[in-house]
Amino acid sequence: MARVFEPWAYGDAPRAQCFWNEAASLPEQPALDGDVVADVAIIGAGVTGLSAALHLARAGEKVAVLDANGVGWGASGRAGGFCCLGGGKISNAALTKRFGLQGRKEYRAAERSAVEYAQGLVEDNGWEVNRHSKGETLLAHTPRHWRAMQDEVTEIEADYGVTPELLPAEELRQNGMGGPFHGALTIPIGFAMHPRRYVEQMASAALNAGAKVFETSEVSALERVSQGFELRTVQGVLKAKRLIIATNGYSSEDIPKWMRARTMPLQSNILVTRPLNRDEQLAAGWTTPQMAHDTRNLLHYFRLMPDGRFLFGMRGGVYATPRVTARLRAMILRRFHRMFPAWAHVEVSHLWSGLVCLSRNATPYVGPIPGMPGAFAGLAYHGNGLAMGTYAGMLLSDLVCGRAPHLPYPDAFAAPMRRFPFGLSRRGLLVGANAVLGLADL
Ligand SMILES: Cc1cc2nc3c(=O)[nH]c(=O)nc-3n(C[C@H](O)[C@H](O)[C@H](O)COP(=O)(O)OP(=O)(O)OC[C@H]3O[C@@H](n4cnc5c(N)ncnc54)[C@H](O)[C@@H]3O)c2cc1C
Repeated sequence: MARVFEPWAYGDAPRAQCFWNEAASLPEQPALDGDVVADVAIIGAGVTGLSAALHLARAGEKVAVLDANGVGWGASGRAGGFCCLGGGKISNAALTKRFGLQGRKEYRAAERSAVEYAQGLVEDNGWEVNRHSKGETLLAHTPRHWRAMQDEVTEIEADYGVTPELLPAEELRQNGMGGPFHGALTIPIGFAMHPRRYVEQMASAALNAGAKVFETSEVSALERVSQGFELRTVQGVLKAKRLIIATNGYSSEDIPKWMRARTMPLQSNILVTRPLNRDEQLAAGWTTPQMAHDTRNLLHYFRLMPDGRFLFGMRGGVYATPRVTARLRAMILRRFHRMFPAWAHVEVSHLWSGLVCLSRNATPYVGPIPGMPGAFAGLAYHGNGLAMGTYAGMLLSDLVCGRAPHLPYPDAFAAPMRRFPFGLSRRGLLVGANAVLGLADL
């Protein structure tokens, strides 16, 4: 099975110290064994695959989800828990150029709809996910970014129909946002949550609705047959009329062959401290429950969790070996201490990493797989897939049944997914890009 990263990235080591693992409570699901038949086969038991499974099962479809590892094992169970706008990296100028003003409006409406959709799932199903934060806060890391932020207000109002709140540097500390920041902008959309609880409760709901989930069931071969698809694992064969690929950053190049060079995985890293007491929080000046990120291209994202622990994350790992990851982990610690020097003495109890997924289009892909009637894919959320992956799963559940989605489904999501150049060596493109973006952040 050909994949972009080193085998280490696809094993358990990167997630061994993930804080969310401690809350895992879903009973283990069986491996696929023997012949199983379903209406819809789904590869990947993260938020995309499980959201699709939940909706399909509730609609009476016979669904089987196969995961090489387990529920939430991939990015979904390792995320920072920011349920917020995003999913792509495309600018408004590029959206308008490629899809027109209406296309841009629909795209931004879908981003908002994704967050509201995830929120609705949590609230309607009574899921316990340790929610906090009223929207997301962006912190300017230079005076120039603070000036630019103020100019963005009108665009945010037009895109999302909400008015963001601006806070100048001198008011940040009294609002519990002390740090090396030059101003803040809060968009009142989104919330923070415990991602493992979210994905497990989604899995439980799907199982209760009749979906089957098979763990330790890696699909090693996928074939089109007269009645649909045949998916082979070490111990079994799943036959289904229709298929959804939901493997995101953990995709291989050949399941299915269409996938070759269409995704760009990238590592994201997170640390979590021991609980900080009130005096320690005051010493750093950070006491707000707001989820936040800075304005760097290679951004830092962080939040004080309800139990007093601080979560701090950073994207950017292009290689994943134990040696490179140790270097990256030292770097994330340095960045954390530089931003919050008052916490330099505080123990970091958890450190982990996982793979996110970029596309050359800079937008998520949610649509049919060309040349494979009955097969669909949902992936490439650019490190922001908790809300968008959930939403993509719901859209896919409609598409796979031949229905037009009832919520915004912008043209950008179904635009043909362009391939990256350089095949399996394409990560090299990111080395240069990261260096340029990192320099621009100084
Ligand atoms: C460290 C980190 C922090 C993040 N923080 C945030 C955040 O705060 N907010 C946010 O919105 N997003 C965040 N993201 C991104 C977000 O987690 C992902 O976009 C989202 O979870 C993707 O969900 P998914 O279901 O599409 O894929 P995943 O959750 O990655 O699941 C893919 C699954 O596919 C399985 N698989 C792959 N190949 C096969 C095969 N051949 N056979 C069977 N199974 C297979 C894998 O085992 C895996 O479980 C973060 C990601 C990381 C790594």
